[in-house]
Formats: sequence, C-alpha cells, structure tokens
Amino acid sequence: MDSQVEEIKQKIDIVSLINEYVALKKSGRNYKAVCPFHSEKTPSFMVSPELGIFKCFGCGKAGDIFAFIKEIEKVEFGEALKILAKKAGIILKEFKPREDQKQIDDLFKMNSIACSFYQKLLNETAGKKALSYLKARGVTAHSIDEFSLGYSERDGNRLLSYLKKEGFNDSLIEKAGLAIYSEDRGEFFDRFRGRIMFPIKDLQGKVVGFTGRILGDGEPKYLNSPDSLIFHKSQILYGLDLAKNFVKKEGFAILVEGNLDLISSWQVGVKNITAPLGTSMAEGQVRFLKKITDSVLISFDADLAGDVAVRRGIELAEKEGLSVKVIKLKYGKDPDECIKKNPLLWKKSVAEATPIYDYYIESAVQKYGKDSGEAKKRIGEEVLPQLAKISDSLMKAHYLQKLASTLGFSEEVVSAALKKYLSKDLRIVEPALQVNSSLLKTNQVELVEKYLLSLILQGEFIPENLKKEFFKDKDLQEIFSLALEFKHENKNFVLKRFPSKIPPELKETFDQLILTEVGEIVEDEIKLKKEVGLCLKRLIELSIRSKLKILSSQIKEAEGKQEVERLEELKNKFRSLSGRLVSLNL
Ligand SMILES: [Zn+2]
Repeated sequence: MDSQVEEIKQKIDIVSLINEYVALKKSGRNYKAVCPFHSEKTPSFMVSPELGIFKCFGCGKAGDIFAFIKEIEKVEFGEALKILAKKAGIILKEFKPREDQKQIDDLFKMNSIACSFYQKLLNETAGKKALSYLKARGVTAHSIDEFSLGYSERDGNRLLSYLKKEGFNDSLIEKAGLAIYSEDRGEFFDRFRGRIMFPIKDLQGKVVGFTGRILGDGEPKYLNSPDSLIFHKSQILYGLDLAKNFVKKEGFAILVEGNLDLISSWQVGVKNITAPLGTSMAEGQVRFLKKITDSVLISFDADLAGDVAVRRGIELAEKEGLSVKVIKLKYGKDPDECIKKNPLLWKKSVAEATPIYDYYIESAVQKYGKDSGEAKKRIGEEVLPQLAKISDSLMKAHYLQKLASTLGFSEEVVSAALKKYLSKDLRIVEPALQVNSSLLKTNQVELVEKYLLSLILQGEFIPENLKKEFFKDKDLQEIFSLALEFKHENKNFVLKRFPSKIPPELKETFDQLILTEVGEIVEDEIKLKKEVGLCLKRLIELSIRSKLKILSSQIKEAEGKQEVERLEELKNKFRSLSGRLVSLNL
C-alpha cells in the first residue's frame, strides 16, 4: 500500500489539486492563497510544487496531498486515499483499515444501542413524565418515532450496565460519551440522567451522539455528547439526516435554534430545516451544510443584531459563499411559539425572509429611530462595519445606496463614512503590529538567518564562501552544510532532489524554509545575489551591534571601578568595531 501512496503522490500535482479548492497565485517558486482552513485577509497559505507540500503560516495546518484532502473534505485517511486514487486513475489494492477502525465501529454500535435503550425507556413507567412533557409541547407520537426521541433515567447507571452486558468496557463507554467517571464515588455512571434524549445522526442516519434536554429544573438545560472519534459537535447539524432531501428540493435550509422548534416546523410540513447544537454556527457546520445547499435562512430567538455569536455564524456562512437571509417571526419569540399560534404565520415568515444586509439596516433603524443626528450616527456605526465586509462591489454599492437613502444622505456622504471607518479599523490593528515588531527585534538574528537560508535554498544559489558557522542556529547550520555537501557531490544544487537528504528531525524546519514566501526575487539571479548580500551584511551588523552592547556595559563597569588600563583596551575595541560597522556601508 505504501508504494501506492507514493505512486499517487507522483501522479497528482499538488498545485492543480489545491487549485480546485482555492485559487493559487504564483509567488516565486511557490504558490500562495488565502487559507481555506482559517479566516484571513492576506494569504499565508503556501504550496510547494517541488516538495508536494502545503503549509499555512497563520493556522499551522500543513502536510501533503493526503493531509490536504483529509482536512478539506473532513475525511479520514482511508477516504482521502480513495479520493486521490480515483483522481490519479489508480486502482487500490486491498486497503487495510486503520487501527482505530474497530473502535469506530464499536462507537457506532454503542450509540445505536443507547438510542434504542433510551427510546424504550420513554415508553416505560420511568419515561412517563418525559412523554407527557413532549405531548404537552405538541410533539406527536409519529415525530417521537421519526426523530427517535428517548429518555434517560434520573439516577443510576442503567445504560452503563446494559452496555457492559452487551460486551463493552467502561473505558470505551466513556469514550462514546455515554458514561463519566466520578472521582468521589470511584466509579463510572451514566452521563445522561433525567433527560429527554435527541439522538444526533450523521447524513447516513447513523447515531453519532446525543443532546439531552433536562426534564424539569437542573443545569445544564441542554447537554451534548462530548466529541469522540465519530462525533464532532462543531461539524454536524441536528436533523439534517432527515431534512437533507427537503433542503435539496427547496433549494435552501432553514436554521433554527432549538430541537423542538425544528420538530414543530417539521410537523407542519416545513421540513427543509436544521439546528446547530448550541446557539452559534461553527465553521465546520457551515461546511457541512454547504455540501447540500448554497442558501440558508436563519431564525434565531435571540435579538440577532446584538448577538455576537449569531453574527459570527452569519459571517462564517457568507465567507463560505452561502447566501444568508434572516427570518423575522410574524408572531412570538421563537418558531415553536409562532407555529403554535398559526402554522401559516410561520410559513409566511419563511417566505418573507429578508436578505441579511437589509436586515442589518432595518434592525438598526428600528433600534435607534432615524430622525436625530445622534440616531443616524449610531446606525452608521452599527451598519457600516457590516457593509464593509461585502466583497462583491456591485452588492456593496447597492447597500451603500440603500443606507444613504434610508438616512436621507447622499451616497458620497455614506461612502466617505465607510472610508473613514475602514481607516479607523486599520488603526485598531496597529498596536498589535507594534508588539510584533518588538518581538522581531529580539529574534532578529534568527529571522534574518531563516530568511537568508530560504533565499539560498529556494533560489538554488549556495554561496561557496559562506561558512556554516555563520548560522548561529544549529538546525539551520546543519541544513546549510547538507546543501553545501549536496552541491559538491552533484556539481549543482537542485532543490527538487535535495529533500531526501534531510533527516527526519530537521524536516519540519526545512519544509518551513521552502514554504516561506520570498517572492519573485528567487527567479532573478542578480536580484537574488544582491538580496543574499544584504542579508549577510545585516547579520554581520547585528552581530557587531550585540558585541558593542556588551562592550558598552563593560566600559561602564570599568569606569565605575576606575580600571584605567582595561578601560583603554575596551574603548579601543569599541572604536574598531564601530569602524567596521561604518565600513559595512549600511
Ligand atoms: Zn490557515
């Protein structure tokens, strides 16, 4: 199998592969892009075609084509292997399952058993109160069945002992998030107790975890399974296994806050609906949804305009290219209330959902009014930062126009305010930059050394007269001397063939050097040589300056002790070093 992995690596060009997901731009020998794995404005995601690797200098994600596919498609290695083999046109020999495949199978099995167990309990005496609560909330027997709702008993470890009888051990049950260990009692017991159980299923309908809603009083009101090998809370949405076909059919998904809102809506026939597990959307959840639709309508209980978490969810959704609209309820504080009043009101609310930017403007006007100067100022402060984020220029113009006419200003006034906001916004970033530059000072030698070695390697220009001792950092020293050796053995330094010489412990440092952005400079020999020269000078300068610093404190000391001879000697050294500094001609 290893040889097949290598074969796939040979056949697939990492640049064209990644280009299918993000637009890569050439930068020197490498390519760069805005990182697909974290939110950023300036690109720090680098790809090296020669080494077949990528690295994001922002979030640290790095690796080869397999790592990239695993990360971007959210799949395990086996799946990534299949995807890439298909692209490469290679038929895989039998694929040995991963070590933890057995554990994954066990977790699925346990969750499925637990689900049936909770379902059964709901219909026994123990679940009587839970069942009547659900009925009082208007959940029909059919829905209870369809959503596999259940109940977990208030005290004890009934599920735990049941699972043990089925042959699972404590530690595995804990891993599934179904049991927890009590230090006090020195034993395991059921994690979910006295809760209405909502099983969370993947798109194939397999149970991966649970949300338990407390029956009666108690904290927390909602409890989710902890993350496990098969459950990642931030990457899954409740109910989408059932809703997915309806979402595809309608062309959009409705996002509500609570599981009961969802079931309520489902019961009145609005079935293209899902819920995040908690109030705000996570990046992984947006991607999960993106697999099915490009359009989302959001209905949250909270006052959207004031809720940072909800706004962040919206921003994430937009960043992923989803079109976002907001549902304003025609009645009540949540969809469930609205539906109880009249299902038609809910359907109407959905049909009349407002595009998100219209919503921002309208909700700000509602909040502040728009007659006084003060109100207009506050509306501007609230809405402009949102409009500033619109990347499409026509759309941005449209909303600037709308804001202007809402406030009774000319468009120029609003555009000028936006510009002012943007420049202010930049000023806020500045202190952070200052912190960085002071950091730069303390590590300057290391930084210049790394930059120099990046230039040398990427430019395939190894200066003969440079001694490896020139590098203070031992790892850099080692990599440089390996490069020099390679050049002597092969007459030429060829980056593409060099990586095999790098021992494993230096690999990370080496990859980083190759992926560091040095730009076009490496393609122009004259510029490259000049830049290398400047780096060398800079390093000499830094070394002299640090010696001068030591000398000047020694001089002070000698002055204090009135050591005349030593003082003279130190001053001479100081003068000669200063002279060298001047002669560097910086
Ligand atoms: Zn990143």
